[in-house]
Amino acid sequence: MGKFTIGWCASCNLPLLAGSCERCGGSSQEVQITPPGDVRPAFEGDLDLLSETVDRQFGEGVGKKIFPNDKLVLLNSTPAIDRADEVIMDGCVLGLLRYDPKELKFEFSPRCEGARRIFGAGGGKWVKIDEGAVKPVLDGSNVLAPGVIAADPKIEADEEVYILSPDDLVLAVGRSRMGASSMMDGRKGMAVKIRQVEPPRKPSILKGGQTWEDAVEANRKFLKKSEEKAKHFIRSVVEKIPRQLAVAYSGGKDSLATLLLVREAGEDPTIIFVDTGLEFPETVENVRRVARSFGLKLIVEAAGDAFWQAFEFFGPPGRDYRWCCKTCKLGPTAKLIREKFPGGCIVFLGQRKYESDRRYRQPRIWGNPWVPGQIGASPIKDWKALHVWLYIFYKGAEFNSLYKSGFSRIGCWMCPASEIWEFKLVEKKHPELWQRWDEVLKAYASESGYPDEWLSHAFWRWQALPEGQLRLAQELGLKFEPKPRAPCGKIKYRILPGFSPCKDGQISVEGSFDRTPDLERAANLLTTLGEVRSSEKLGVIKVKIHGAEASVFRTGKFRVIARDERRAVESASLIVKGIIRADGCVGCGVCASRCPRGAIFISGGHAVITQACTKCLECYEYCPVLYFE
Ligand code: SF4
Ligand code: SF4
Repeated sequence: MGKFTIGWCASCNLPLLAGSCERCGGSSQEVQITPPGDVRPAFEGDLDLLSETVDRQFGEGVGKKIFPNDKLVLLNSTPAIDRADEVIMDGCVLGLLRYDPKELKFEFSPRCEGARRIFGAGGGKWVKIDEGAVKPVLDGSNVLAPGVIAADPKIEADEEVYILSPDDLVLAVGRSRMGASSMMDGRKGMAVKIRQVEPPRKPSILKGGQTWEDAVEANRKFLKKSEEKAKHFIRSVVEKIPRQLAVAYSGGKDSLATLLLVREAGEDPTIIFVDTGLEFPETVENVRRVARSFGLKLIVEAAGDAFWQAFEFFGPPGRDYRWCCKTCKLGPTAKLIREKFPGGCIVFLGQRKYESDRRYRQPRIWGNPWVPGQIGASPIKDWKALHVWLYIFYKGAEFNSLYKSGFSRIGCWMCPASEIWEFKLVEKKHPELWQRWDEVLKAYASESGYPDEWLSHAFWRWQALPEGQLRLAQELGLKFEPKPRAPCGKIKYRILPGFSPCKDGQISVEGSFDRTPDLERAANLLTTLGEVRSSEKLGVIKVKIHGAEASVFRTGKFRVIARDERRAVESASLIVKGIIRADGCVGCGVCASRCPRGAIFISGGHAVITQACTKCLECYEYCPVLYFE
């Protein structure tokens, strides 16, 4: 994705959205960061977390010395299987704050500049190397034991350390591969595996005393200009599409900025809020307060207990099994639009292209096939998170207090798209909410025969674990094989078609059977529908059916993704028939005698499909298991 940077004014020590600082007129210096570079401010909760983590790792009191209260800190989320934020202060990246999904704790991995400050604060563990080892380390070598001239005696193997030159300047950071005594007793071998190097120097500490108001001042013209552009967009949409006007306000920062802009454009929109029944109390309260403060009409559509009722049949929602968006969001949204806006409406939403690939590709104005009559439009599509936040600060708007507690996004508190650290924060902030979810998941885990880690490490977020999670499960020595469930009688199933508003409008059908399928038999029978790939390790069968892709999980759940609704629903119906046949086959042989290709034989009391199958579906016509369904 190339180089990503954010601007910084070194003389004012403030982040910049444009090329120069409007406070001092100085030019912006670029700070290189990891894509997509959607940086956000660190709030009180984040700063406390940073300080606590640094203190635990590098010594009491070091955290506050490195991250004093009078400096602005930014966080840049980087791709990882749980939280991994680059921490930016004084115009440079000081390190990575990451949540370890195996050990279930936060860690701060300093870059050289972070380590210089830790060293300056008298914290951390150090290894001093001789002059002859400096150049090889700067050239990319690890630190070898013979090059070590001194080391913190407390160092043990596999600890965070920084490397000092003979004149006590930090030049590298890494992890120890042996304890201090082994480093010093002249043994051979790698003493420290290096993560990052820089020429040895003193820390580049800039002056403190900044506030977010200062950051607004440094970016005022840019904010004003982008506000004008957004207002122009809003007015042109309103002119072109003469319908009732609404803002979908979720209680989050993006929809707040959108609401502020629509107001600035001179409009008095209706605020619509879909309460999924899984909202934080702070969010519900914030929505009401914001509507009151602007004197705007608020329409709330509540999903009520829909999630908990549907859970009974569908089980835990997953990133690859997102039934909850449909019951809790799509359904109530469609109802609200149908009932309150019978003539259709334009809904301004706070969607930004930096949030996901799909949003990147989505146009600025779009129609929603699942919510007829609604035209969506986003005035902040090109804004980054920092831009949104500076605009909110610029307008002095009150925002959801959850951000200050350390949450980086607002939504359902048990959303399967959340990371483990977020769940830990929910548990801490709202134990009463978490307790209910914990009890429901514990009961499900015990029924399915899953170990405790399925819950503690939040593996419930997938039906089939992706690569990184699978590796983590293997490291923890875990396997998730559900206890077979095979109730007597006819197979029962339920499906939920629709687009997933939380999954960027992906069109899918999620379904659940009341039993776990025999994957081997199902994989064979489903070859009548399309190309089948099955993975015993992941516990999933994938079937390609005419422009749709179906995944049947060993848990008895399934999902079909397609480009359009018709294809998704038709494919799901075929999957259901295939699974019913595989489950109920009595080996009567009717299909074998009807198959025009002779592609079926009976073995062990079941139909077996061979490679001669041309997927004509003739055999489905005569199968008595389907006939009596
Ligand atoms: S009738 Fe024969 S060829 Fe046609 S789908 Fe069934 S097994 Fe395949
Ligand atoms: S027709 Fe008979 S043998 Fe063929 S799948 Fe149905 S029950 Fe099994």
